Amino acid sequence: MPRTRIHNVSAAQWSANGEGLGGRDLTQTANQVFGANVFSAAEQRKRLPKHVYAQLRTTVARGAELDTSLADAVAQAMKEWALENGATHYTHWFQPLTGSTAEKHDSFYGPVGDGTAMAEFSGKELIQGEPDASSFPTGGIRATFEARGYTAWDPTSPAFLLENTNGALLCIPTAFASWTGEALDHKIPLLRSMDALSEAALRALRLLGDEESQRVFTTVGPEQEYFLIDEQYFFERPDLVTTGRTLFGAKPPKGHELDDHYFGSIPERILAFMLESEVELAKLGVPVKTRHNEVAPNQYEIAPVFEGTNVGCDHQMLTMQVLQNTARRYGLVCLLHEKPFAGVNGSGKHNNWSMGTDTGNNLLEPGETPHENLSFLLFATAVIEAVDTHQQLLRASIASIGQDHRLGANEAPPAIISIFLGSELEGIFSAIAEGKASTSKPGSFLGLGTPVLPPLPLHSGDRNRTSPFAFTGNKFEFRALGSSQSPSFPNTVLNTIVAEAIDQLAEKLDAALKGGASLEKAILGIVRDSYKTHRRIVFNGDNYAESWHKEAQKRGLANLRSTADALPWLIERQTIAVFKRFKVLSKRELEARYEVFVEQYSVKLNIEAETAASIARTLLLPAALRHLARLREAGVDSLIEETAELVSRFVDAIIALERVNAPHPDVDGLKHALYMRDEVVPAMDGVRAIADRLERVVADDLWPLPKYSEMLFIK
Ligand code: ADP
Ligand code: MG
Repeated sequence: MPRTRIHNVSAAQWSANGEGLGGRDLTQTANQVFGANVFSAAEQRKRLPKHVYAQLRTTVARGAELDTSLADAVAQAMKEWALENGATHYTHWFQPLTGSTAEKHDSFYGPVGDGTAMAEFSGKELIQGEPDASSFPTGGIRATFEARGYTAWDPTSPAFLLENTNGALLCIPTAFASWTGEALDHKIPLLRSMDALSEAALRALRLLGDEESQRVFTTVGPEQEYFLIDEQYFFERPDLVTTGRTLFGAKPPKGHELDDHYFGSIPERILAFMLESEVELAKLGVPVKTRHNEVAPNQYEIAPVFEGTNVGCDHQMLTMQVLQNTARRYGLVCLLHEKPFAGVNGSGKHNNWSMGTDTGNNLLEPGETPHENLSFLLFATAVIEAVDTHQQLLRASIASIGQDHRLGANEAPPAIISIFLGSELEGIFSAIAEGKASTSKPGSFLGLGTPVLPPLPLHSGDRNRTSPFAFTGNKFEFRALGSSQSPSFPNTVLNTIVAEAIDQLAEKLDAALKGGASLEKAILGIVRDSYKTHRRIVFNGDNYAESWHKEAQKRGLANLRSTADALPWLIERQTIAVFKRFKVLSKRELEARYEVFVEQYSVKLNIEAETAASIARTLLLPAALRHLARLREAGVDSLIEETAELVSRFVDAIIALERVNAPHPDVDGLKHALYMRDEVVPAMDGVRAIADRLERVVADDLWPLPKYSEMLFIK
């Protein structure tokens, strides 16, 4: 049966329901409800004994260890708060290596002797849970006979309530580990990396004369891109349902060539969806700040105000969840895949990243005094050194099957990692490297006989959208993350490698100061040496240009095109060494991650290949045959030949795909991944190429899949 085309049913229903806003009461604005569903500091102070509250805050502020004997008091207060707000169940909310979040709900109510039920939730339940680890990827860490894993309360990320029309769920952010103590999640290494960075940065700060700061936090503000399409189309596309991206689809006559979508006015249904998402996020304490249309049709972006990395990453996971849930109330589906539509811009996540002290100083903010600028230069140098030294590891930290369609295409950062500093900052670094730290250029270095630095530009005027890692005034923006990705692992890597670089620079600074050098002279010397070695990573030009790829190769920069090329860097010697030294991930934990990610890549590719073969054979081929029969009936000879030839090539391509994806070579993980990349992906592409031509030939009423021109333009 050919598909009945009822354009835009969900949209029609949405506006017909009149109440708009999915029928929900949105009389409260995001500002009024901010944090309403969070067991926030204010709530804690109100409900906890003074000394318990004080210790909890110290833990949050300093990363100090929490005395578990206080857990009962916290659990009691948390439970009361949750019950008052309609919760019936609680869950340890954690982030296994699947890349999504996991929850297992337990009722607050347990039976008591007299046949009634009573709310039960003590310190024990708060601190530790025991989900069955065997259902989560562990990369060989969990021996099959020891299936147990445990979740452990993370007091630094506040508990929150997830609302449902029929009840609420108390979510307690937790870490997830094996009984042997190895991290099975993304939170544990992130927390460890934040500790590592804090320690290294404090060491440097003391040498710079800062005796006050007690803790350095890394901060993150992730800008999330996504697509929205009408849910009717989504459910008519088995490829979207199963793989999150369209495996077929000819390019529409109109793409983003007209640039009429970016920052355009937001359609009413979409805006209604955004407003409700923002209220939901605000209740969860996610400080959402900006929204706008993105470059591609039906593509949008949401960004929060930055936060500490641990909470920021938790909030990012919640953001993805809320966007997806809320979309459904408007007859929409939110697509987070990196490349849902071939030939149309993909989606990324810009990971804005910086380091700040507990006394409120952003270490990547150029200051107004020479001393502040010296400090800034030291920390910025550390970032440059780290990114150059571990460029391949950074690339590996963002590798995934979805990213293989995006990185390197002319719309997203290339697979080559480089840093954009902006011309002013690069000029300053170059001048230091070349020993010209006192030029008399007006507005530049003051010719005072000492290489005193001028106030550095607060917000460098130039912007470079093509760079994978850009300095943007007071932070770095790691732009190459995938839109569906948890930001935890890339930030873990960033924190760890920067901790290493800071530590190395601090070591040199310490030696120079002990040798009697002035702070200024010592730092400029260190910056000079480091920048000379690592300046190859700095590139201010167009990262999309073919000439850059050649130039990068000349500079010896890595170009790891696919996930299968990048992942082995997770277990390279230098990776293992830095993670071990800063106690972020052990060799075994790294190997486990490597194994899990490689396997996910092959499994997901296999799912795509099977889905593509099935759609081609059971939906598209029959449509093409029906069309051919019609042509024969009508006797349109010239078109019969063309279509018959396409059909015959289509059949060959389908059979080739099925054949190549049937016997999977029994080889180790990486070899399997390479087989999928080199044999199966080209066979899939072969089927698609012909299918997309058929889409342009077969009668519209016979074509069984919604087309790009429908999915991307109907709002
Ligand atoms: P853009 O021009 O890239 O949109 P914005 O100033 O709007 O730049 O900031 C983008 C993101 O960067 C926001 O999420 C913001 O919170 C975040 N950001 C700003 N300062 C920092 C910081 N110090 N650390 C981490 N993220 C930050
Ligand atoms: Mg940005």
